[in-house]
Amino acid sequence: MLQSRISTSAIKRLSLHCQSQYLQQFPIFTTTSNRIFENAKRNASTGTFNYIQDEIKDANDRYNRILTIRETNDRGWGLHVTRSKPFSIGEKIMSSVALSTSHVRDSHSVQVGWNKHVLMDLPARFINHSCDANVGIRDNESGAYDFFAIREIEFGEELLWDYEASEYEVSAFETCLCGSSKCRKVLGGFKMSGETIRDLYGEHYANYLKDS
Ligand SMILES: [Zn+2]
Repeated sequence: MLQSRISTSAIKRLSLHCQSQYLQQFPIFTTTSNRIFENAKRNASTGTFNYIQDEIKDANDRYNRILTIRETNDRGWGLHVTRSKPFSIGEKIMSSVALSTSHVRDSHSVQVGWNKHVLMDLPARFINHSCDANVGIRDNESGAYDFFAIREIEFGEELLWDYEASEYEVSAFETCLCGSSKCRKVLGGFKMSGETIRDLYGEHYANYLKDS
């Protein structure tokens, strides 16, 4: 994931005294350059890609004329629709794969179990956060998430999902800067916003949270 709405690109765009804790959970708050560097290092360590640019190109090639990772005007990197036919409500947009698993949260992970956090592949990792997301998640067989349109999404639109649909809690409450008129302002994870998440996304949130 990269930063979210206001600053760089990718997911949970929170701020406050920040980048501390929340940054640890939602990579999205770092700067684009920092994130690229961190991703490049991580991928280099797995032997998958030597440079984040190679990983982005691979993802964009695989999703040619469907989705593309590119820089946004105000939030750094994001994932955008390039398919001419709009995604319809309920349509599966893509699947992500878990590249690695950990018992602890880190700045790039998403939570898939009470003590399970995974690093998703691209392009899923570059979807930014919004408190009024157009994409919902469902657990998949790889141990990561599939992404579904929860409203019609047209060519050129950015895909946005809600991190509180997967993260049970955060290390510190942070101010969200997603820019949505429905922004919850302070994000504390599903533990704090579970009722809202269920109302907004129906069944499109992490399975493990459905037991909570
Ligand atoms: Zn928000």
